[in-house]
Amino acid sequence: ANADAPAELTDGYHLVVDALKMNDVDTIYGVVGIPITDLARLAQAQGIRYVGFRHESNAGHAAAAAGYLTKKAGICLTVSAPGFLNGLVALANATTNCFPMVQISGSSERHLVDLKQGDYEEMDQLAAAQPFCKAAYRISRVEDIGRGIARALRTAVSGRPGGVYLDIPAAVLGSIMDAEEGAKTLSRLVDPAPRQLPAPESVDRAIELLAGAQRPLIVLGKGAAYAQADAQIREFVESTGIPYVPMSMAKGLLPDDHPQSAATARSLALKKADVVMLVGARLNWLLNHGEAPQWNPDAKFVQIDIEAKEMDSNQPIAAPLVGDIESVVEALIERSKPGQIAAPAAWREELGARSAQNVAKMAERLKADPHPMQFMGALKAVRDVIRERPEVYLVNEGANALDIARNVIDMHVPRHRLDSGTWGVMGIGMGYAIAAAVESGQPVVAVEGDSAFGFSGMEIETICRYKLPVVTVIMNNGGVYRGDDVNLYDDAPSPTTLMSAARHDVMFEAFGGKGYRATTPAEVTAALTEALASGGPALIDCVIDPSAGTESGHIAHLNPKGITVGN
Ligand code: ADP
Ligand code: MG
Repeated sequence: ANADAPAELTDGYHLVVDALKMNDVDTIYGVVGIPITDLARLAQAQGIRYVGFRHESNAGHAAAAAGYLTKKAGICLTVSAPGFLNGLVALANATTNCFPMVQISGSSERHLVDLKQGDYEEMDQLAAAQPFCKAAYRISRVEDIGRGIARALRTAVSGRPGGVYLDIPAAVLGSIMDAEEGAKTLSRLVDPAPRQLPAPESVDRAIELLAGAQRPLIVLGKGAAYAQADAQIREFVESTGIPYVPMSMAKGLLPDDHPQSAATARSLALKKADVVMLVGARLNWLLNHGEAPQWNPDAKFVQIDIEAKEMDSNQPIAAPLVGDIESVVEALIERSKPGQIAAPAAWREELGARSAQNVAKMAERLKADPHPMQFMGALKAVRDVIRERPEVYLVNEGANALDIARNVIDMHVPRHRLDSGTWGVMGIGMGYAIAAAVESGQPVVAVEGDSAFGFSGMEIETICRYKLPVVTVIMNNGGVYRGDDVNLYDDAPSPTTLMSAARHDVMFEAFGGKGYRATTPAEVTAALTEALASGGPALIDCVIDPSAGTESGHIAHLNPKGITVGN
């Protein structure tokens, strides 16, 4: 270098982008504003795909879904204070769901924040984020940007995946330093999520338990889907003949019509299983905490999980298998003798018989085609269209729209169903749908309750702006749960009532997308077929009977019972 030439300079913005690129970050989901607008602009100029949202929660949910689908941390970019707080909802949800993401947020001047002098969007964001994520870090010096980003990315994906908060004050982004010195501060992570092998004696303990079982059962959770150990899981399930039940996001890990699926005999399977192997599934509320009467009180549990402290959280775990699912399942296959674990035929037949009964009952219910349209009729139409297109990603939220779609719409490909997840939240819909489309390039169908849709509905502008192949299908019964609730006091809307006959399709057309209104299953079929064939953004407003649906769907028992209001 010429000693007289002025030194090349870099700044915080460039170093953040360089560090992200060095670690293969190819997409950022965010909402711009002070102090991160130039960061988004520069990232885009340097070849990172930037997807701009209308609300930070949705950008955050998109980053989380991207993390789930790719096993790399999804990145969400937010502005200080309110934008940061909006994103925090998604960061907390991602952490609860064990999805890897990093929320990078700009923040106000440290010296003003710390003396509470009243800065623009003043907030101690690091402290605020801490309880809601796996880890929270702050970069306080420009020369620590590389280290901070490496640390955030590794923390998100290693061990149990989760959300990480990374605070970058405005002053750090604007700091200037020598470019050559700056480049030396960056590093590329080596093996960000190392394999974690189980101890051989833990594997043998589990094998023995499974080999002695009369009524073994495997529960596949979204951790199993996340692990991308599809081939190993299939081999273990098929070589042992053990029936399995998929949790909702594990649907499709093995195709829902697999002969060993006990999804359609779920209650019987849980009630009677004597040895249960949990694979990336937690014994939380979604599994009744492993308690009787839903479960056999004498059941013994084997649990595969990367998080050691998950063991015994709800039931004693007789055979804990701590490690990553791929390594653990490989070890189970390797260390068991051929034929040593084999599900007894009597058990398989018992479940098979119950499945056949339940499937027949469901087929009978699906035959009915009443008018006005019910959830079943609309969702059967959706099912039949996407059955022909297994590449379609399904996003699903709502109460009845979630419960019924989960049972009616079968999945055939791993990681193609994204839904309300561990918290059972509303609001993930458009964020997850956008991420699924952006990350996969495949079509997405988002089945949404009309109430659920409202939480992220403005992102239809985002979908139209980026011309994404997302078809939003709204189960519009004009209410939270149902649309026919009455206010017992005056004629104002009841707490659960939404605008009846709202025209979401018209709203969609305002942004240049294609809107459809469907009042019969045949119209749903026609609209969805055409929308998917077009490959562009579309929204189908399905007019559902306002009296269809039950309050709180399948989880009405979670409402505390006091003195009944009204009746
Ligand atoms: P579901 O709701 O489908 O039952 P959960 O979110 O409750 O699933 O459980 C997922 C579990 O999977 C979490 O306990 C998490 O620690 C675990 N997990 C995630 N990724 C892996 C992995 N690669 N290997 C092992 N366990 C994993
Ligand atoms: Mg509704």
